[in-house]
Amino acid sequence: MKEVILIKDGEIALKGLNRNSFEETLMKNVRRRIKSLGKWNIRKAQSTIYLEPLYEDMDIDEAVERIKKVFGIAAFQRSAAVEKDFDKICEAAVDYLEDELMSARTFKVAAKRSDKSFPYDTPKICAELGGYILERFPHLTVDVHNPDVTVIVEIRDFSAYIHASQIKGAGGMPLSTSGKAMLLLSGGIDSPVAGYLMAKRGVELAAIHFVSPPYTSERAKNKVLELGKELCDWCGRMSVFIIPFTEIQEKIRDNCREEYFTVIMRRFMMRIAEMTAREVGCGALITGESIAQVASQTMEAIACTDKVAGMPVFRPLIGWDKNDIIEVSRKIGTFETSIQPYEDCCTVFTPKHPKTHPTIEEIEKEEERLEIEELINKAFGAKEKIILRNEF
Ligand code: ATP
Ligand code: MG
Repeated sequence: MKEVILIKDGEIALKGLNRNSFEETLMKNVRRRIKSLGKWNIRKAQSTIYLEPLYEDMDIDEAVERIKKVFGIAAFQRSAAVEKDFDKICEAAVDYLEDELMSARTFKVAAKRSDKSFPYDTPKICAELGGYILERFPHLTVDVHNPDVTVIVEIRDFSAYIHASQIKGAGGMPLSTSGKAMLLLSGGIDSPVAGYLMAKRGVELAAIHFVSPPYTSERAKNKVLELGKELCDWCGRMSVFIIPFTEIQEKIRDNCREEYFTVIMRRFMMRIAEMTAREVGCGALITGESIAQVASQTMEAIACTDKVAGMPVFRPLIGWDKNDIIEVSRKIGTFETSIQPYEDCCTVFTPKHPKTHPTIEEIEKEEERLEIEELINKAFGAKEKIILRNEF
């Protein structure tokens, strides 16, 4: 008996005419995640993607864990693939589902027959296989309304498939079916979650991180790269651009009024992020901002930073509470890294009394004292590019 994985796509099913290209991308993404586990036959039929291991000893458990992190899959199944012969189906069902059936008290059989040439119709499959299971597991009774175990038999074109339970998928849309965006990645809790949420909607990610040595350390930078790597479990791979930000921060500190420091600094981040985004083909920026979380995240401060971004800024966490953000951060595996206590350039030179309701006119007036073009071009030109990948 051979074990296979069947993926039934989720929201993709709504995509009408584009459906094919979404499914192709999903197949490509799945293939990339599991190819290091051995040789697979991967094919698509009847809105199901079939993953069939071509060798005996391939690690299906690990494949399942990896597929749980592929976006665009609502649910999938581990399944026994059996020849379309009713006796063999019965034997395989009791053998493959022995543990589930032993520990259950009630069960039912559900059958689907897309190969109409199979000699038994679905009521007959259910009745006969149900009888066979009752004989082998006399402790069981049939409950068609609320069974402990549902034995599902699908008679499809290549084989019969037997399974009991579904595994929840990562949901969302296949990566890179919604374009590419630049994530402003800090070492905090929020920005990795923001990146995850956009990747889940099919957006391919690149990331940018601003460093201010010697005020920020090499260890702080490495922490951010570690977060980037953890994100790659979900988004495959990602380029991270490291931007030297010290000179810009010192110039703002030396020339502008203290209470405007944070908003001006964030405007510089946006300008440089936009330039970098354009260079690598990103159509939007992503930040982990949430309204009212800190002084730079008031409506007025956000309006001031938005003003210099020449492309859409996605803020998927804008209406989220910190506790809900933390919950996702734990789920996706970035929380423990995020809470390591290293400094961020945002916490260098923070004003004692930041202006929470700045106006664009005030900010632009302050910025007149800076050589904006020169500063951003210099930082942009000195960026370092690091390519991160998941471990697969
Ligand atoms: P986070 O947990 O993401 O650090 P935060 O609540 O600490 O968020 P801020 O420090 O105000 O918020 O930053 C808001 C957003 O600005 C971050 O979510 C991130 O997108 C971006 N950001 C902050 N610092 C940096 C940095 N050093 N490099 C790149 N982006 C940054
Ligand atoms: Mg931060």
